[in-house]
Amino acid sequence: MTKNKIKQMVETIRCTNDLSLFEKLLLKNEITQTNAWIQKEAKKSPMSIRRHLLSTSVRLTENMSPEVHAMANDCIERLGVELPLELYVYSSPQFNAACFKPEQERLYVMLSSSLLEGFTQQELKYVIGHELGHHIYRHHEIPIGYLLKGEQRPNPKMTLELFAWSRYAEISADRAGAYCAENFQAVASALFKLSSGLTTNLINFDLNDFLQQVDEMQVVDAEPGEGAPMGDWFSTHPFSPLRVKALDFFHQSELMQEVGLSSQDLEAQVQSLMGLMEPSYVEGKTESAEAMRRLLFSGAISIASASGGISEAEKKVFEEFFGEYSFNDELNIEKLIASIDYRAEKVKNLTSHSQKYQLIRDLILIAKADNRVSKKEREVLTDITIKIGLTAEDVEVALSAEYELD
Ligand SMILES: [Zn+2]
Repeated sequence: MTKNKIKQMVETIRCTNDLSLFEKLLLKNEITQTNAWIQKEAKKSPMSIRRHLLSTSVRLTENMSPEVHAMANDCIERLGVELPLELYVYSSPQFNAACFKPEQERLYVMLSSSLLEGFTQQELKYVIGHELGHHIYRHHEIPIGYLLKGEQRPNPKMTLELFAWSRYAEISADRAGAYCAENFQAVASALFKLSSGLTTNLINFDLNDFLQQVDEMQVVDAEPGEGAPMGDWFSTHPFSPLRVKALDFFHQSELMQEVGLSSQDLEAQVQSLMGLMEPSYVEGKTESAEAMRRLLFSGAISIASASGGISEAEKKVFEEFFGEYSFNDELNIEKLIASIDYRAEKVKNLTSHSQKYQLIRDLILIAKADNRVSKKEREVLTDITIKIGLTAEDVEVALSAEYELD
């Protein structure tokens, strides 16, 4: 394949929601400013990533690991990666891998020791391809970790967009990995190993059983008020059975088969799979979306006024979040807070488990808008969570969610 053909193919398999959110986010001031800052810091210490890797990990030279390099080279060729790649391994019982933002025209991929030992060659190709996928799709240009950990947090609406984008970015990287591995069974078993932590021969991985888990999640999800905690659905990384399902659609699509699911249908399927994780209810017209929106509104007011009245900063955040609703002096704050019981009851009856969880996560974003969640804010959050039929533990899980691409 020519260079152009490779580029074209790699762009074709990119998840369209990743691309559209990526382009939208790149235009935001917060992102251009953060990138400018990162660039300035990088100029001050130009080789900091490499220095860090050399001092904490072992560089896998071609001489030491011709097999791993051969796999990486296959991925490089398949994805049209143009920068030279350095591979590193670090000691860890956890299966993990990461790709760093290129530095001085060099690319760095780091793999954990257990991953190298426990994964087959095809599975490793998927993992390496996934990491290189982040590079090929320029995902590092949206420094989500910096943005969400920085002193100036983006407003809640943008935070939600960042979350949504990062999940679709993982879907794109997964496709790049699957495209490199050229073996769907190996991709699925890699994701099984990543999510179960198992590599033992005692387990016979069964793809259909694993996919069944997603179908059951969806069934559980469809019944309001029932179901197991699903914190994982809402972390930055989609829960891996969900990713396997998304990859299964990809595998069945015309992108991978002579005759298959059209690209449009593929993206529609993936979107509906991920749909519950979207902040769509802020605009949705269904009865459940309206119930969620109303509770979010009163809940946000209640949280914002929990410690020492509603500050100007909180008002601003509130307006950014609700846009058209807008905060104004005519709002009867006491009345809104008093409406929580009734509104929560409605949400409890009308929405699925995932939607409830999403609502709590969004309220947390509002609580975190002024950078820390106070004890009183936490109490309000827990109160609402219990009123809509979730548990206090769900609040803790959502509060401790981390946001890094890997
Ligand atoms: Zn990733």
